[in-house]
Amino acid sequence: MIERKCTKCQTWNQEEKFCKNCGTALAPDEIERIEEAKRQEWRENQPRPKLDILLEKAKNHKNPVVRILFYILYSAGLIILQSVHL
Ligand SMILES: [Zn+2]
Repeated sequence: MIERKCTKCQTWNQEEKFCKNCGTALAPDEIERIEEAKRQEWRENQPRPKLDILLEKAKNHKNPVVRILFYILYSAGLIILQSVHL
C-alpha cells in the first residue's frame, strides 16, 4: 500500500493519482506529465525575436527577387557574424 501526502494541502492519500482533497497530482508520472505540459506552454508563450519573424517572412516570400536578396543578405550576415566571433 502506497501512501502519498499531498504537497499542497498535506492530506494523506492512498494510491490516488490526484489528491482527493484538492486535486493536486500525486503520482510521479502525473506530476511529470503536468510539468512537461507547463514547460511546453512556457515555450509556446515565449515571444519570438523580431528578426526571427522577419527571416521567416523573407524565406517564404512570394517574390523570388526578395528571396534571393534575402539569401545574399543572410549569407553576408553569417560571414559578418562569424568574423565578429573570430
Ligand atoms: Zn491536496
